[in-house]
Amino acid sequence: MKYLSTRKNSPALTFSEALQQGLAPDGGLYVPEFFPTLPADLVNPKQFSLLSLADLASLVLRPFLANDTLQSQLKEICASAFDFPAPLRFLDQKTAVLELFHGPTAAFKDFGARFLAECVLKNQAAATSSVSPSGKKGKTVLVATSGDTGGAVAGAFFEKQDIEVIVLYPEGRISERQEKQIAGWGGNIRAFAVRGNFDDCQRMAKEAFANLEWCKQRQFISANSISIGRLLPQACYFARASLEFQATTKQKPGIVVPTGNLGNAVAALWAKRLGFPIGQVILATNANHSIADFFATGTWQPNATISTLANAMDVGNPSNMERLRSLYPQMEDLKRDSATFSITDAEISAVIRKQFETSNDVYCPHTAVAFAALDKLRQAKHQQGEHWILAATAHPAKFESIVEPLIGKTIDVPPALASLLARPLQNTVIEASLKALKEATQHYGS
Ligand SMILES: *Cc1c(COP(=O)(O)O)cnc(C)c1O
Repeated sequence: MKYLSTRKNSPALTFSEALQQGLAPDGGLYVPEFFPTLPADLVNPKQFSLLSLADLASLVLRPFLANDTLQSQLKEICASAFDFPAPLRFLDQKTAVLELFHGPTAAFKDFGARFLAECVLKNQAAATSSVSPSGKKGKTVLVATSGDTGGAVAGAFFEKQDIEVIVLYPEGRISERQEKQIAGWGGNIRAFAVRGNFDDCQRMAKEAFANLEWCKQRQFISANSISIGRLLPQACYFARASLEFQATTKQKPGIVVPTGNLGNAVAALWAKRLGFPIGQVILATNANHSIADFFATGTWQPNATISTLANAMDVGNPSNMERLRSLYPQMEDLKRDSATFSITDAEISAVIRKQFETSNDVYCPHTAVAFAALDKLRQAKHQQGEHWILAATAHPAKFESIVEPLIGKTIDVPPALASLLARPLQNTVIEASLKALKEATQHYGS
């Protein structure tokens, strides 16, 4: 299996090469050159017995790692990465919530970040010499974050040997709990609070990757959300959930995905393309309406980002749009398999209140976007099919400052999150420049 750039102007790479490369040299994103045909008893089992996520993932991903050095270790990689559950909780015969927030940082990004981490570590261990010209052992993972990604990546690499993680986040612009999930680890996780905004952080990361000398010296590797190593594993929990839903209800479910950069939604569409029993995939966005405009007009036009209550989805220019368009070159095919709804903050708040009042369930603002989209979908006459899985992308305790006032109650914090919140912050504040980052990281890892 090779990976091609969505812009078609870069050499084809193996999985591990694409993972190391991050963004393709032509500025595109890596996608598999084809979608393999999986064994029929995997995608359409006659006798259903539910595999664990780790076991299913290693079967689904096997052909995607064909000819790659990591293929022989895939089973171990999946077992280490997916050592926490992704339960499907039925609300009624037609609706189920896929809870993706039982990992170390209580959001779905743990799945992708942990899979990526296992791949990077295995590749590093296999490298004959991982000693860089500076004498430094191992790679440095560099990631800029507006909130959730940094925590998931930090957690995935925490205490791993010969790996250092540099997380750049905007000082004073993320929640206290988000900051703890980035800067509460210590050890090999270096957290930098940048005096600037998220765009400054992203610019610094880009400059670091463009600085070839420094890159070579530190052996930088990117862990941002465009990495193929984060996207592929996400298809697996959708695959598994669709099989479980079908086995339970004898119906094929659609999936409603809270969407920002389109990583999770593209993963769901990849699972569908692989033949798993999935109907439509609904792209549920907050007030950022670039995707809704695209569906309405057929023309792609990114917009400036709008701040909303579902802040992990505050994206005006979704990076995985290129992957969506490469999967669906024809608009009519996209509209057959997908639809989109843009949800306001008022609708998010209303859903959180209503779900608590009617069923005592508490959802995070992102998951609430999916609920609001499903309400609209079921009201719309043109709906296809009635059976739906809602992806619950984060635990509500991560967004307590928004959710608690709405429900008038304190939310219990899951144990993994609680132990992280109890740790002191270990961060360094720096100016928003590459020079400042270089100086601040000089003494690391020799
Ligand atoms: C990142 C994130 C999203 C958006 O996922 P994309 O893959 O960027 O579309 C949704 N919900 C939560 C809680 C997130 O952290």
